[in-house]
Order: sequence, then structure tokens, then C-alpha cells
Amino acid sequence: MPADADAVPVKDDKIRCDACPVMCFIKPGMTGACDRYANADGELVRVDPHVLLDRTLSHGGEVVPFVRSDEWDGSIVPQAETFVTAIGAGTTYPDYKPAPFIVSSEVDGVDMVTVVTEGIFSYCGVKVKIDTDRFIGPETHMVRVEGEAVGHVTTGEYGSQMLSLGGVHHLTGGSKKEGRVTCDALLELCNGKAVEMSIDGGATLVVQAGRAPIVNGQTETRMRVGCGSATIGIFAKQWHGKVDEVVVVDDHITGVLSEHQAGKLLGIPDTGIRLKGRRSTPGRYFQVAQPGTGWGGTDIDDPLAILGPFDPKVARPGLRLLMVSTTGEHAAYYELDEALRPVQAEMPQALVEPVDRIAENCEPALSTVLFIGGAGGSLRAGVTENPVRLTRSVKDALTYVTCGGAPVYVWPGGGITFMVDVTRLPENAFGYVPTPALVAPIEFTLKLSDYAALGGHMDYVRPLTTLDPGGRLSLPHRHDNPWPFAPQGARRSHG
Ligand code: SF4
Repeated sequence: MPADADAVPVKDDKIRCDACPVMCFIKPGMTGACDRYANADGELVRVDPHVLLDRTLSHGGEVVPFVRSDEWDGSIVPQAETFVTAIGAGTTYPDYKPAPFIVSSEVDGVDMVTVVTEGIFSYCGVKVKIDTDRFIGPETHMVRVEGEAVGHVTTGEYGSQMLSLGGVHHLTGGSKKEGRVTCDALLELCNGKAVEMSIDGGATLVVQAGRAPIVNGQTETRMRVGCGSATIGIFAKQWHGKVDEVVVVDDHITGVLSEHQAGKLLGIPDTGIRLKGRRSTPGRYFQVAQPGTGWGGTDIDDPLAILGPFDPKVARPGLRLLMVSTTGEHAAYYELDEALRPVQAEMPQALVEPVDRIAENCEPALSTVLFIGGAGGSLRAGVTENPVRLTRSVKDALTYVTCGGAPVYVWPGGGITFMVDVTRLPENAFGYVPTPALVAPIEFTLKLSDYAALGGHMDYVRPLTTLDPGGRLSLPHRHDNPWPFAPQGARRSHG
């Protein structure tokens, strides 16, 4: 489709793309440095189809990867059921020019407008959540791709390890190669591809949005049910009467049933067990071992390594002990011998099911990739002559922000900093320009009257029905994304 960026013809039939600061000269039949624009017989065209979302196409259908469409039947679907995304819409640079598409439509008797542009984000990144207990590396340590620093390990949360990748310092603040590799890695992650990375002093990872993480070559399957203490709280009743003591081995909080409040409430007697590590509260121990890829995210392969000698005044021969991890992946059964030493024995049948229950309660381990970008700066000038009013309008919930039609979380505070789960967009919705920067679709939807009030580019508003259908691709709206014209109607809008 013809691009809305202005093409400047130059000698040798090259044309100059001005959709980003690179300003490529593009020969006939060739594409520019980002592969997004091409010279087609002297005309600057956006290579990918412009994507519309359609609620009537498939109720409950998933958004599918987009491909070049040759099957458009030319019909325009009802206005209220069609949403114009920014995917494939193109970019206007510098942003004092109005956004490529400012499209009005009537929705339930209300005149609405959607302003769309493929934003160029030099200051963006991704947050990655990796569902694993395994140690991936110390907090703040560098994450590298092809040896280049692309981000760092940040605070571990719940049953996950977290990475913060990209951002202004790696994209623009380091060497040229660092910026390029960071941009490539972010693009791959955002477009749902797998990226291999390594952590200084830690693990190698393969991360792909919506897929199980691979840590040191091992595919993770389960996200832990909770910490060791939580696991005791959840399952104490199911162990009661079948075993005398349970230790749930966990790098964060290791739990001991007989000492834990759950055990006390069940009347479980003391067993004389002694744990290494730092006791926090009864039955809850920190730092029983070093972090690692063994039992419960610790570095141990033999769980007995975290036990001291049993107290001979309390313990008795024959005492039954279950040791298990927070995913149920590791479990072992012991009985104390005459010298009060735990001796491993076959897991009694009565304990097999309670151990399996832990595994059953674990959710599938996934990698989650959230793109985070600041839709502030000059991008807002493509929407309004008075950019701060757009920010206020977003904060006042008059303007609904979407990314390729997907719901976003807008951070409180200054600017329009938003996050989006990349799996909720059509695949390959993200692009790049070699400045380096990521290109992400962004749409602002609001009432036409509100748009006029915030100083919108009213002269550039065009009705949806006037859009040339050629080169546009209609995709089914993903059913669990809120419909952008009725975001309040969503059962849930995130996660
Ligand atoms: S990198 Fe892409 S958007 Fe930028 S000038 Fe070249 S072709 Fe145009």
C-alpha cells in the first residue's frame, strides 16, 4: 500500500524515505534499512499490510500472525465492528506531522476517533518473567546476548525470576554493537521468537514469550506452588497421619511441618529435627543453602545436607520423614535408624498422592515478555498540537491506549509509559529502525468531541469508510482482549 510518509524522489530513481531519522535512499524494488518501507515503481510503500481488527470475523477467535493478504474482498465491515490498528500503518517523522491515520467511526451513536502510528521507541525495553525456582544469576548481574550487555537480572518475585532488558542505556548509551544487539534481542522477544542469553555468574537461558523457559539446557515445566512455608500451609492436612515430619525444601523459605503453625494447629508433635539456615519464625527458615538449580532452587542435590543431627531427647527410631520441593519435582522419604540418622526408603503409597498433588497444583512454567515504552515525547505531537493534553486525557481515562489493539497498563506518574503483554498482539507486530530503536504500534481512541477539545489534528480526520481497503488485512479480534471501543466491557483486561 502507498505509504503516508512523504517520499522524496532523487536522481537514479532512488527515493528517500523520511519515516525515521535514518532517511534511507531506496532503489527501485528494494527496501530500506528496516525492511518496513520499499520503493515500488517509484512509490514509497509500507511493506506489511495495515492491520484492522474485526469483531465479526470470528467470535472467540485468536488473533493470528499476519501475512500479506491477497484475499481482501473489498467489502467494508460495519464501523462499530472494525478497529484500525497501527500495525503496518507507518510512521510520520518528525512527529510534528499528524499521525499516519486519524480515523473516525460511529460507535453506538457516538462519534469516535482512533489515532494510530507506529511509534519509534529509542527508550524502550522489556520486562521478562521466567517461571522457575532455579537460580539464574545474582540480582543486578548483566544479561548478555552475543556477549553484549542487553539488560540485567532484577528482583525475583514469587515463583519467578525477573529480567529487565533494553532501556535507554543499552539501546543508545553503549557501543554501536551493544545498541544493535539489544535492539535485535528486544525485537525477537516482542515478536514471539526465542532468544538465547547468558547471565554473568549465572545460567544460560532460552526465553520465548508464552513458552517454557530453558535454564542451562533444561526445559522448565512447573512453576512452584508457593514458598516452602506456603506449601506446608496448603498441604499440611493431606500429610497428616501419613508421616511424622515434612520438610519443604526451598531457596526462599524452607518449611518444617512440626514447627510450622499449620503443624501446631493439627497437633503434630515435635520431632527433634534441626535445620541449618536462619530461622525466621517457627517452622520457616531462610538461607538453608545457596541458590542453585537443585532442590527447590537451592544448590543441593542431597536434601539431608540441610539437616543437623536430630535432638536425641525428642527424636525416636522409626520416625518417618518426607522431604519434598515446592514443585514436587524432588521428593524423598526417610526413616530414622537406631542412631537417629535418616535412612532413605521407598516412598509409602499413602504419600505418593500428596506429593503428586503438589505437582498437580503447579502451573505450567512460562516466560512472559512485557514490552514497556514511553509514548510521550514527540509522538504525542502527531496526535495533538498540545501534547500535554493527550497525557491528561489518558490519565483521565478519556483516551484509551492500545498497542496493536491489545490492552496496555499505563503507569501512574508523568508521561504515557505503558506496558503490554506481547502475546496479546498479532505476531510480528513490532519492527525496528537502525537508529537503533524498536517500532511498536500504538493507538489512541477517544470521542471525536474530546479529540477536538484537546487540540487534535481535526483537518486530518478521515472516516473509516473512506479507507482504501487495498493492502489492508482484517484479523479477528482476540476475544479476551477488551474491544477498544468498549474497554469497560472486558471481563478482564490484563494477564
Ligand atoms: S530505516 Fe526504514 S523507516 Fe527509517 S528511513 Fe530507512 S526505510 Fe524509512
